Amino acid sequence: MSMSRIVLYYTFTPLPDPEAVKLWQHTLCRELGLRGRILISPQGINGTVGGEIKAVKQYVKQTRAYAPFKDMAFKWSEGGAEQFPRLSVKVRPELVAFGVPEQVEVDADGVVDGGKHLQPEEVHELVEAKRAQGVDVAFFDGRNAMEAQIGRFKNAIVPETETTRDFIAELDSGKYDHLKDQPVVTYCTGGIRCEVLSSLMRRRGFEEVYQIDGGIVRYGETFGDDGLWEGELYVFDSRMNTTFSPQAKTIGECTHCGNPTSTFHNCMDRGCSTLQLYCEDCRHIPETTRCETCRARLQQDPGHPNSGRLEKVRRG
Ligand SMILES: [Zn+2]
Ligand SMILES: [Zn+2]
Repeated sequence: MSMSRIVLYYTFTPLPDPEAVKLWQHTLCRELGLRGRILISPQGINGTVGGEIKAVKQYVKQTRAYAPFKDMAFKWSEGGAEQFPRLSVKVRPELVAFGVPEQVEVDADGVVDGGKHLQPEEVHELVEAKRAQGVDVAFFDGRNAMEAQIGRFKNAIVPETETTRDFIAELDSGKYDHLKDQPVVTYCTGGIRCEVLSSLMRRRGFEEVYQIDGGIVRYGETFGDDGLWEGELYVFDSRMNTTFSPQAKTIGECTHCGNPTSTFHNCMDRGCSTLQLYCEDCRHIPETTRCETCRARLQQDPGHPNSGRLEKVRRG
């Protein structure tokens, strides 16, 4: 039994002096021997840190002693300091990088005018109540499109996003305007991206926007694969995917042959971080395990240096 743990947490609350919070958090973590990643912004804090249980408990206690963080929820998880290469504490203009810090207003209660929070059970209640009125609830994926390739809510809308920044152009393109007078449930891995996304949608005239408290993770812990979720969950650590039960469906398709797979592989070109799904049979074929962009470039410049690299990679 490991005597170490990890905690994950975030809160949206105005921080007038993020640099001071950074110094305090950095010192606190160093003294307690914790490692991990902490992001601080004028909008709040988001972190994942790990270490000895006693030290993590002490960290939680001391962090909550700062008034703006006193109600912050900490999610405990297996793991420890060794899961992180180092301690990183950074100040950024936004807690989630949508690229529009000026469009996000935060007060002591969190993001102003965000989507209504739903507990996992309430997601089902909403869908049923709306169905009784003859109205469909739209599920709107708040992640990068790639993540949705292996798992998503059934019939979800998956915007064309390579990074979180792409949501702004997507929302402003008009292609989702038909949802503006419909109930929309936004969802993402742990809920933080939707805190902001749902408020950006509200700001753009989407009238009835919801978000799932705790995101897909909480929903999956509650309903496993017996609810409205389908497939595997992409995660930003060395595991890459997780499932909620052994019955999880494989909905991803091999980029080459179309066979079911949930395994992402890096484009074989060195320096390209594109992830693509390949089945076990196709993952070694050099002609195909290069992403489209790199293949096009190679046709123009056959001498381009590349490697046969095809290992799993992290992408945050
Ligand atoms: Zn294949
Ligand atoms: Zn590539």
